[in-house]
Amino acid sequence: MRRPFIAANWKMNKTVSGTREFISSFIPEVKDVTDVDIVIAPPFTSLVVAAEELKNSNVIIAAQDVFYEEKGAYTGEVSPLMLADIGCRYAIIGHSERRQYFDETDEIVNRKIKAAKRGGVGAILCIGESLEEREAGKTFDVLEREIDKGLFETDTGDIVIAYEPIWAIGTGKTATPEQAQEAHAYIRERIGVKYGNKGDEVRIIYGGSVTPENIDSLMVCKDVDGALVGGASLKAESFVRIVKFNRF
Ligand code: PEP
Repeated sequence: MRRPFIAANWKMNKTVSGTREFISSFIPEVKDVTDVDIVIAPPFTSLVVAAEELKNSNVIIAAQDVFYEEKGAYTGEVSPLMLADIGCRYAIIGHSERRQYFDETDEIVNRKIKAAKRGGVGAILCIGESLEEREAGKTFDVLEREIDKGLFETDTGDIVIAYEPIWAIGTGKTATPEQAQEAHAYIRERIGVKYGNKGDEVRIIYGGSVTPENIDSLMVCKDVDGALVGGASLKAESFVRIVKFNRF
């Protein structure tokens, strides 16, 4: 049985006081949820506060990115060592916004994953096709390339894969449960080809306009193990409903 993994990606939203406010209304509502990994990825400026406020809770802290060096002259960057030091358990790596706006290549993604794992931080590896790629029938090719290159010379330990079709991120256009299931099944099969029975163990979560209204139909899919949620994770009430998805 794969344990559901529901993660909030706040992107460049919320100040420290906004973070505190969210946490104080969120925690009491989810404190009894024991069968889901609940994850929040605030911006770097809120990480320490979030880590402190969530220390004895059932909520895990993640970063939205991480650099691939441990320390040194890399102005503006944050290392896995620094994340591990404050109790950050995961880093989102290879989000399409980073690939698109910051020119992150599969090679950089791979270096970040390896560094995170070395530093004791798990990786939420984001992969997914653009609309043009989908329409050209290249979805599986893109997924294969991003898995193979992203996980080059590493293993699946402490890796969660987020399937995030770029056309569904922040657009209000969610993949249908059938589209999500098809892509997730393909990803699992590909992991199976590369890592044997790990294909059955790796958690594959869906991201792209997940809301309280569509989470239940996505979580019903056999190979959907959770969600990476952007916009709908910014309001505590809405993220609570997503975390408490209906188990049919
Ligand atoms: C995301 O940021 O990973 C994401 C899926 O955003 P949204 O839920 O807003 O589409």
